[in-house]
Amino acid sequence: MIQPSTILVTGGAGYIGSHTVFLLEKAGYNVVIIDNLVYGHRDLVESTLKAELIVGDISDRQLLDSIFQKYSIDAVIHFAAFAYVGESVTEPRKYYRNNVVGTLTLLEAMVDAGVRSIVFSSTCATYGIPESVPITENQAQKPINPYGASKLMVERILADFDQAYGLQYVIFRYFNAAGAHPDSLLGEDHLPETHLIPLVLQTALGHRDSISVFGTDYPTSDGTCIRDYIHVMDLAQAHVLGVEYLLQGEQSDIFNLSNGNGFSVQEVIQTAREVTGKPIPVEYCPRRPGDPPVLIGSQEKAKQNLGWQVNYPSLFDIIQHAWNWHQKRH
Ligand code: UDP
Repeated sequence: MIQPSTILVTGGAGYIGSHTVFLLEKAGYNVVIIDNLVYGHRDLVESTLKAELIVGDISDRQLLDSIFQKYSIDAVIHFAAFAYVGESVTEPRKYYRNNVVGTLTLLEAMVDAGVRSIVFSSTCATYGIPESVPITENQAQKPINPYGASKLMVERILADFDQAYGLQYVIFRYFNAAGAHPDSLLGEDHLPETHLIPLVLQTALGHRDSISVFGTDYPTSDGTCIRDYIHVMDLAQAHVLGVEYLLQGEQSDIFNLSNGNGFSVQEVIQTAREVTGKPIPVEYCPRRPGDPPVLIGSQEKAKQNLGWQVNYPSLFDIIQHAWNWHQKRH
C-alpha cells in the first residue's frame, strides 16, 4: 500500500490553517500541526481534526529539527504569522521578527532536513495601492505597511532559496479571507477582531452597538471601500491543490487567491442585514489610514494552472456561513 504523504502545517490551529487541515485530511493526507496557540485554538483542532498538535514556535530551531527527524515530512504549508496591518505599523519589530526571521528559521530547518516543498501564505497587501484592478500576479509590489513588507521579504527569500537550494514553493497571495465551514465545524475567531465581516456579525448579535464604516468619500459607487472577499473553504481547497502541484514536481509559482468580484463596505453591511434579519446600526467614521479604495484580484492564473474552482463566490453564502458559525461560537 502506498503511504499517504505527510504535511507539516504551521499555524494549523488558526483560521485558514484549520480549514486547510480539514480538507487535507479529507483528501487522505497525514497532517502534523505546529502552532504556538497565540492566536490558534486548541479546542478546534481537538474537536474537528485528526492531526497531532505540537505546541511551539517556528523560531524554535531545535523543535523544528526534532519534528523533521521524527516525521517523514513531504511538504510544509506555512500559515504561522502575525497578520494585523494596524499593529504592524506600531510594532514593526514584532512582524519582522516573527514573519521574516521565524520563516527563515523554518526554511533553514527544511533545507537541512532535505524537505524541499513549501506552500506559503502571502497577501494582496504586498501590492500596496494597485496600478489597476483586477490585480494580476505580475503587477508591481509596493507594500504600504510592515505586514505587507514582511510577506514580500519572504517571497524574495523563497525565490533565492529555490535558486540556491532547490526549494520548490507555491506562494498564495490572499485577498480578504471570509466565511466559515458550511456546517460550522470551524470558523473565524480572532482576538482582537479587526475584520469587517466578523465585526458586522458581532453587531448583529448585539455584542457591539454599531459597526464603524471607515470612510464614505472614496471614489467608488457608494463612497465606501471595495474588497474582494474569498470564502475560507475555497482558500483551503487551493492549498490542497498547491501541495499536489508541488508533490507532482511542478515548478515554483505564485498565485492570487481571490473571488474576482469586489463588494463595498455598504454592500457587506446590507447583505449581513438580509442574512441575519437584524438592523445592524452604522456609524460613519473617517477613513482608516492605509486603506486602498479598491482591491480586486484576478483569479485566472490559479484556475488555469492549478485547476482551482471557486465554489462559494456569493457574498450572501459567505456571510451566511460566517453567521451560522458566529451564532454557534458566541
Ligand atoms: N472596515 C470598516 N469598518 C470596520 C472594519 C473594516 O469600514 O470596523 C473596512 C476597511 O476600511 C476596509 C474593509 O472594511 O475597507 C475591509 O477591512 P478588513 O479589516 O476586513 O480587511 P482588509 O481589507 O484591511 O484586509
